[in-house]
Amino acid sequence: MFFVATDEDDPNAVVFHWWIARYLVELIEQLMNRSTLLQLLICVPLIALGQWADRSEGNSRSYQEVLSSYRWLDQQFPQARLDSLGMTDAGRPLHLFLFGSDLPEPGHAPREDQLVILVNNGIHPGESCGVDASLQWVRKQLEEGSFPERMILAVIPAYNVGGMLQRRPNTRANQDGPVLQGFRGNSRNLDLNRDFVKADAQNTRSFYRIFQMLDPDIFIDTHTTNGADYPYTMTLIATQQDKLARPLGKFMAEQFTPALYEGMASRQPMVPYVNVFGKTPDKGYAAFLETPRYASGYTALHHCIGYITEAHMLKTYEARVAATMDFLDVLLPLAGTNAQAIKDAREASRKWTAAQTYFPTGWALDSSRSSTMAFDSYAHTYSPSTLGSYDRLKYEPKPKSRTIPFYGRYRATDSVKTPRAYLIPSAWYGVLERMKLMGIQMTSLEKDSLIEVENSYLKEVVFAKRPYEGRFMVQDFKEEKRTEKRLFQKGDVLVNTSGNNPLLLSALLEPRSVDSYLRWGFFHSVFQQKEYFSTYVFEDTAMELLEKDPDLKEAFELWKEKNPEKAGNAYEVLGFIYSRSSYQEMEFLRYPIARIP
Ligand SMILES: [Zn+2]
Repeated sequence: MFFVATDEDDPNAVVFHWWIARYLVELIEQLMNRSTLLQLLICVPLIALGQWADRSEGNSRSYQEVLSSYRWLDQQFPQARLDSLGMTDAGRPLHLFLFGSDLPEPGHAPREDQLVILVNNGIHPGESCGVDASLQWVRKQLEEGSFPERMILAVIPAYNVGGMLQRRPNTRANQDGPVLQGFRGNSRNLDLNRDFVKADAQNTRSFYRIFQMLDPDIFIDTHTTNGADYPYTMTLIATQQDKLARPLGKFMAEQFTPALYEGMASRQPMVPYVNVFGKTPDKGYAAFLETPRYASGYTALHHCIGYITEAHMLKTYEARVAATMDFLDVLLPLAGTNAQAIKDAREASRKWTAAQTYFPTGWALDSSRSSTMAFDSYAHTYSPSTLGSYDRLKYEPKPKSRTIPFYGRYRATDSVKTPRAYLIPSAWYGVLERMKLMGIQMTSLEKDSLIEVENSYLKEVVFAKRPYEGRFMVQDFKEEKRTEKRLFQKGDVLVNTSGNNPLLLSALLEPRSVDSYLRWGFFHSVFQQKEYFSTYVFEDTAMELLEKDPDLKEAFELWKEKNPEKAGNAYEVLGFIYSRSSYQEMEFLRYPIARIP
C-alpha cells in the first residue's frame, strides 16, 4: 500500500502516514463520486490499522477518522476496547467503545457493582459536537488515567453511520459549522431519534442489543439545538421526571440534575433546553417531552437516567465541542460519587413499578406547576420582511438578565390497568422480534387453547394523512373492551407482566399509549374487512335473522326511524344486520393482542 511505511529504527513497527492516506482517500473518492463500495474498501484497512486523527479547526472528523481514532485508543490503552455489536442500515456494524478499570468480556454484561454510563453520539450527524467531544474527552481520560473505579463508560462513536457518510457542507442551514456536516436522515432517510419503538432501522435493533447487554445506569445522547438564540452554549434535556418511576424521577430531579447544573456553573452556565411556547423564551418555557420514540424516552422505560446535551447551534463548533466535554467532565465524577444512590434509586424504581396497577398512556404539560429560573435572554425586535408580508424576528446579542417561569412537570392524561398477561398471536412476529431484542421474557403456548381474555375493539379510527418516519400513524380511536373466549394456537406467545417490566409493556402493547405498536402501524391489516355479502343472497338471510332475534329487529326498526335516508340503500340496510350477526368476522377492528386481566 502507498501509505504504509516501515520505520527504519524499528523494522517491526508500521508507521502510518495519516495525511498521505487522507489525501489519497479524498482524491479517489472525488474521482469515483464517493462510491460507498470504494469507501468501504479503502476505509476498512484504515480503521483496522488505527491512527489518531487530529481535527482541523472548525471542522468535524469524518466517520473513518472517528473509527480509526477509537481503534488507535483500543490499541494504545489496555483499559479500552472497540467492539462492534450488530449492523446498521448503512451495511456497516454499529461500534461500541468501552473503557474502565475492569471491562467485561466482549458481548458480556458488566458486573452488577459497576456503574455504567452509555454515551450515544451522532444520531443526528449534522450535530456532531458530541462525536468529536466524546473522542477527545475519552483520550484525555485515558492519558490522565483519571477514570473512577467500578465504573464503565460506553461510547457509541457514531450511531447514524449512514448519515455520517453523507458528509457535505450545508446540511444544517442555521448552524455555525463544522465545515463538513453529516446528514440527519440515515441510509433509509429515517430520523433515528424517532425510531426507538418501531425499530425500522437496523441501528435501533443493534441499540436494543447494546442497551440490553449494558443495562446502563445513565444514558447521554449528544445533540445541537434548533430554535431560539440566547447566550448559553450548553442546554440540557433531562428525561422528563414524571415519566420515570417515582423513586428515580425524584432522585434525578431533586438531587442529581441540580448537582449537574451546579457543577457546570463553575465552567459555563447551563440552562434547560429552550423549548419555547411561542418564538422567544422571554415569557418562560417548558421541559421537552421525549416519548418512547426518542432515545431517552426509550431508556427511561428501563429505569435509566437520561440526559440529552443540546449545544447551541450558533456558537462556534469549537465552543460546542468544549461545552460537551465540560458536561462529561462534570457528569463522570458526580456519577462516581453517587453510584450507590443511583443503583438504589433504580432498584427502588423496579419495585415501585412492580407494585403499580395503572400506567399512563398519554401526557400533557402541567401548566399549573412551574418554577422560576434566572435566564439571560437576548433582546429581540420584529421588522417587516423584505421577502414577504410578515414581520421577521431578529435577536440582538446583548444579554439581559431576567427571571422566567420554567414548566418542568407533565401530568398523565389517561392511564390503563395492567393485566396479568398479554397474549400475542405468533403471526405478529414483527412486534415479537422487537420485544425479544429488548429482552422481554415470553413463553409459547404448548397447545391450542380456548382462553377467556379481554379483547379491545377499535372504533372511529383516524389515520394520519401523510407518512411520518415511514409509517402512517394511528392518530386517534375509541376502544371498546369485551371479555370473550378466544382460541389461541400452539406457539402463540404469553407475556406475563410479573417478571417483566410493566412500564415498558404498557408503553408498547397498550394501544392507547402515545407510542404503542398500534399507533406506529404494526396492525394496520385489522382495519380492513375481508369478507362481505352479496345483497341478493343476504336479503333472505337478513329476514330470517330478524325473525329469530326480536332484539335485533327492534334495533333495526329504531335505526331505520333515525336514518330514513339510508333505508333506500341495500348495502346500508343489509350491512346493519350483517354487522350485528355471527357472519361479521371478529378479526375486523379487533386489536390482535389480548389481555388476561
Ligand atoms: Zn438532534
